[in-house]
Amino acid sequence: MAISSKILIVEDAESDRVLLREILSDYVNIHETANGMEALTFLQRNPDTDLVLLDIYMPHMDGFEMLACMRLSPWLAHVPVIILTAAEDEATRLKALKMGATEFITKPYVAELLRQRTASILAAAARRKECRPGSFAHQMYDLSQSVHCGISVYEVPANGTAHMLFFSQSYADLCGYNAEEFTAMMENDTLLPLTIYPEDQIIFRQTVETLLTEQQPVYQTLRIQRKDGTVRYVSISAKICAKFNNSTIFHVVSLDLSNADSRSQSILHRALGNQAFDHLTNIYTQDTFITQTHQMLMEHPDEEYVLIVMNIDRFKIINDLFGIRVGDNILIQTASYLRKRLLGIGTFGRLHGDSFVFCLPHHFFDMDQMLKTQAVLCNSFGINYNLTMHSGIYIIGEPQLTIRQMCIRAKMALATVKDNYSMPYAYYTERMHKAMLIEHQILNDMHQALEKNQFIIYLQPIYSLHFHKPISAEVLVRWQHPVLGLIPPSQFIPIFEKNHFIAELDHYVWDLACQYLAERRKQNLPNIPLSVNMSRTNLSSPDLVTSLCVLVQKYGLSPAMLRLEITESAYMDNPSQLIDATKKLQSHGFKILMDDFGNGYSSLNMLKDIPANILKIDMQFLTSLETSSRAAALLLGIIRIAQQLEMVTIAEGVETKFQLNFLRTTGCDNIQGFYYAKPMSTRDFDHFLADPPMM
Ligand code: C2E
Ligand code: MG
Ligand code: MG
Repeated sequence: MAISSKILIVEDAESDRVLLREILSDYVNIHETANGMEALTFLQRNPDTDLVLLDIYMPHMDGFEMLACMRLSPWLAHVPVIILTAAEDEATRLKALKMGATEFITKPYVAELLRQRTASILAAAARRKECRPGSFAHQMYDLSQSVHCGISVYEVPANGTAHMLFFSQSYADLCGYNAEEFTAMMENDTLLPLTIYPEDQIIFRQTVETLLTEQQPVYQTLRIQRKDGTVRYVSISAKICAKFNNSTIFHVVSLDLSNADSRSQSILHRALGNQAFDHLTNIYTQDTFITQTHQMLMEHPDEEYVLIVMNIDRFKIINDLFGIRVGDNILIQTASYLRKRLLGIGTFGRLHGDSFVFCLPHHFFDMDQMLKTQAVLCNSFGINYNLTMHSGIYIIGEPQLTIRQMCIRAKMALATVKDNYSMPYAYYTERMHKAMLIEHQILNDMHQALEKNQFIIYLQPIYSLHFHKPISAEVLVRWQHPVLGLIPPSQFIPIFEKNHFIAELDHYVWDLACQYLAERRKQNLPNIPLSVNMSRTNLSSPDLVTSLCVLVQKYGLSPAMLRLEITESAYMDNPSQLIDATKKLQSHGFKILMDDFGNGYSSLNMLKDIPANILKIDMQFLTSLETSSRAAALLLGIIRIAQQLEMVTIAEGVETKFQLNFLRTTGCDNIQGFYYAKPMSTRDFDHFLADPPMM
């Protein structure tokens, strides 16, 4: 036995203590206490105790109670306990072993036997400690020392009220008492309501009730009133840990929410298997936010609440640029801002990644204030980066919705302003909900729609300003939906671009366009080239050129009859790929149109790099023509540049005579717009071509 081994003797009879000390003191470091209560206090301060010799029958707290407390306490559970009993008391020995005693020794003591037993148990314990240096119990102990959390253990007898069995020093510290004061209070009190803020005592009682009826861990936030009268917010998690003798034993871990050391708190939470709090920021996880918010709304049915989802913009970039540590720190500080602002007012949590959620009474919500603080917060992170946030706000108007549904509504609002720099927030509206339902239906129906030929093409003529007649037409897809009617592409193309279904649809549309041209040719009707739109997804496909060549061959058409419209955004994704594809397609005889030119911000660069044949000038220049002389100057400039680059020009969106007349003065080659013709069905287009109105 190592002399450094620390043994605690818990025995009320002084003569027995003296005897034990005599037998063992040459070998180990002995400490003595006269009852369970004293012993637990000693152990709290000396959790490195290697062995406890425990008498059963003692005043204040007997050996059974003390054993139960030890086995429930995360950091005392592993300490070996030898029970000291009378030789004839078999029932007691059995019960003690069942409750987790390691061994027993009978009185009167046989010195050599006692030494041997003690030695072998200490050796076994030392081995165990070596194997598991970071054992759960030690981890718990270390954490409880470094973290502002308190642990208390309660017993609820079958028909009695709950009383506290045990508390950790850190719990007494949390409440601002020393251990002696706390012990004295514990003896006079049941659930220690004295330490709980008067208004929150009911919450604690309800927590216990819920725990006992549902037998599931319960998480709550409440206030503790400290000895000096100050108030601390704590989050508590109550868990049943054992049942015996018709009693239920549960422990409560109380975390001090006002403590800044959230990182170490979160370690503790994880070690306890507590999923109530987010491990990084130590505010509620999504699930806990949902239950807590639900409860808050139920408790205040007459109050109007708002639920807000807040997102840090381009958070991935921050992680990449400044490292995960800085990223983590930003999340932690955002959470602590929410805690500071909302504690005692509403609920708040981290949804995932860089997304936070909070809910508070509407009258407390001040958007201006929030934006100001948000800006201050963003500047406070001390990085050389313009950090911004966006929020989606749902004013809770449908209390029958689940909190999850409310979060979705706030997220919907957020999605509408996600990349909008001038608008850092948006309120949820019914329209967004309808759009979501439609999006859902679109996603649901799209494959079937393709099979059932519900996608059809409309054609919009493109007029030549030189020849005063239509020289081409743009192919524009429509969805003839059996329930929703004729759906314009603006409603489904963005969705299909996200899920890449657009690639399939585009091929289908190109096929329809070629089929139409082939059909007309079969009937010996004159044809004009058609231009089709091409999505970014298609541009990145390695078989794009081959598949287009195969397509025109299939219908016996010249590639010059099928023009390809590419938008600027494709250039931003991958310029070299776009340049390559353009050149290859041109070498096979296809003409390339640069669509919506002037819509993006890298237009001039793109003009420099991409040898497109035709430039389609975005309609935004025309819309502001009448009010802005600058727009007129720009339009003129673009047309001049195109001429210099030997590109044909098409002005899109011509709606008025004024616009038309202006365009005539600029040297623009072609126009497309409602002024002459709206997109029309193929049948209408047949009639149109048979007798095109002259300009
Ligand atoms: P876009 O390629 O720029 O097509 C021109 C759009 O402008 C068409 O809208 C057309 O109806 C509209 N437009 C034409 N003249 C006027 C006018 O004078 N005033 C106004 N206000 N609008 C005019 P549409 O058919 O709703 O198509 C919208 C967009 O959807 C298209 O813009 C194109 O980007 C995309 N799209 C349409 N069909 C397809 C397709 O088959 N594949 C792909 N990938 N995208 C398509
Ligand atoms: Mg187009
Ligand atoms: Mg366009």
